Amino acid sequence: MLCPSEELLQKNLALSTTWQRYLAEPSFESFVELAVSINSFTEYLIDKGITVLHHASHQLEQVALAYFNRDIGHPLPQSTLDDLSERVRALSRLIHAHASATAGLPTHGQEPQQASPDPGPTGRTWLITQDRAAWAGLEAQLGYFGMAAEFVTWEQALPENAGLAPLLLLDMGGLPETEWRGRIETLRQRFEMAQLICLGVRSNFDQLQQALSGGCDSCLLEGTPTHAIIEHIMELHERHEQEAYRVLIVEDSRTASHLIQRTLQENKIVCEIVNDPCQTLNALKLFNPDLILMDMYMPNCTGVEVARIIRQHNEFLSTPIVYLSGETNVALQVDAMRLGGDHFLTKPFNPVFLNTIIMSKIERYRALRRSMYHDSLTGLLNHSSGKNTLDMVMSGVAHEGGFLSVAMMDIDHFKQVNDTYGHPVGDQVIRGLSWLLKQRLRKQDILCRYGGEEFLIGLPHTDGEEAFAMVDRIRQDFAQIRHPYRDSHFLATASGGIATFPLHQTGDALIKAADEALYRAKRDGRNRICRS
Ligand code: GH3
Ligand code: MG
Ligand code: MG
Ligand code: MG
Repeated sequence: MLCPSEELLQKNLALSTTWQRYLAEPSFESFVELAVSINSFTEYLIDKGITVLHHASHQLEQVALAYFNRDIGHPLPQSTLDDLSERVRALSRLIHAHASATAGLPTHGQEPQQASPDPGPTGRTWLITQDRAAWAGLEAQLGYFGMAAEFVTWEQALPENAGLAPLLLLDMGGLPETEWRGRIETLRQRFEMAQLICLGVRSNFDQLQQALSGGCDSCLLEGTPTHAIIEHIMELHERHEQEAYRVLIVEDSRTASHLIQRTLQENKIVCEIVNDPCQTLNALKLFNPDLILMDMYMPNCTGVEVARIIRQHNEFLSTPIVYLSGETNVALQVDAMRLGGDHFLTKPFNPVFLNTIIMSKIERYRALRRSMYHDSLTGLLNHSSGKNTLDMVMSGVAHEGGFLSVAMMDIDHFKQVNDTYGHPVGDQVIRGLSWLLKQRLRKQDILCRYGGEEFLIGLPHTDGEEAFAMVDRIRQDFAQIRHPYRDSHFLATASGGIATFPLHQTGDALIKAADEALYRAKRDGRNRICRS
């Protein structure tokens, strides 16, 4: 799993290196490379939602762009170089502070049976408000989703141990508008790495400007329903959970392949190298890359031939292939793309472009895969990929020894929910349970939307008793979630069945036994968990 702080430091190093390169060779071309590098860093920060660093990087980018002109001679005047140096250093200091503050934070879920709520990747959650009672609904819901909020008023200062990267929810309602900006700026200075979300802002230019220019990350308008606030917070959490990008480098030259690997590692991309193209298929199956970087000319075969061989396999039909070659013949490049390639880069490569092209191709590929393997309502694995994943994990556990528990959960009387409150409200209840499961389960657990309002949960290295404790707590908390409807709310419950390997020996047998236990739970009155 990618460690966000390490990735950030790598990016920072890449940026500083580009700046040093410019200082060593102050040409317009190396300045272009610097500007591109700052720009891609800024975009990365936007993408990751790291607002405070993004402001600093964006400012540096603006300053650099002011010198982005062929008429300006290089090297730039010493005073400009000093200014830019200081800005690069200042950004670097901020990044290091951010990285060291976030390095030790947990990145996902919580341990089974852990009583206290998971602080999540953003640390503790604080709600600053003059009117705690007005937020009782949000307070309760955050608690159920494992993000219990702590309260202070605007007059109280947040305590010393408020956390380095807290989630700060700011109720702007009771605060005079003239104070907004100053208050937010103060919080931003103290908590550079915090997520600052303003609540209760009117859809009014002045108010939004005050809040945003003070340094908040986002504003949720007055009247935003509680579930939409929770949804917003969940999305922030999910951004931290991406796995490292993986690239398979097929290149006969050991020197070239290592050079490429070093370049891609600047972006924390994990690489596997194949120097003998005959090994490509094996490496693909073992490494399962997000992209293949293919040399054009190798002994005994060309990159195009290897690409055609790869494309004979259904599972690799959509894996992007980027050719990297000294070839500048356009007709050949077109041919290479026609025969199963996605992009053509020429050697010697520009490291910034190589990284940028590869990152953007992988992002698109991942989005495509998400839509293929994940359910669009909840973002969880869909039915078939959930089953396949369970089979895979099952064979791993069978090989290593140990337990694997499977739970099937199904919302009770869901037809009535739909009939009474309507299908969209029913959807929201399904999402509620899926959020709760995401919050509570661990990184290694399998989480799948198995059917309409039915979930398949795979818990590796967990025996039946532990699985029962985990799932039963989720059931209890789900029963407390208030699902908003018009001016009021309603409650829903779910039932579950659990089966465990090695008592049941295959993925299908586990699912069947868990399903039977689920039906027993339904028969016995619902809102309960049964073990097979
Ligand atoms: P039980 O307690 O026995 O589970 O009763 P139930 O009413 O929940 O029965 P069942 O599980 O068979 O009903 C599932 C219902 O869920 C039927 C279907 O209309 C509804 N449903 C399936 N998919 C969706 C969905 O994506 N959104 C919504 N809102 N409803 C769905
Ligand atoms: Mg070659
Ligand atoms: Mg049901
Ligand atoms: Mg059902």
